Amino acid sequence: MSKVAFACASLGFSCEWALRAGSSEELLDRVREHARCAHKLTDLSPELVQRVEAGIHPAS
Ligand SMILES: [Zn+2]
Repeated sequence: MSKVAFACASLGFSCEWALRAGSSEELLDRVREHARCAHKLTDLSPELVQRVEAGIHPAS
């Protein structure tokens, strides 16, 4: 499984947070946690999940 990366700013937040993960599932879990802690989003809407998925890119 190749690594993936994501930057919170790609959701439109003014936020420097970014991460790498071993899979898009793991990445999405961590994005959820970050969204809850940092942006007070108790859950990601389906649209936001789509935007996260669209913003995921391969990491070396
Ligand atoms: Zn953020």
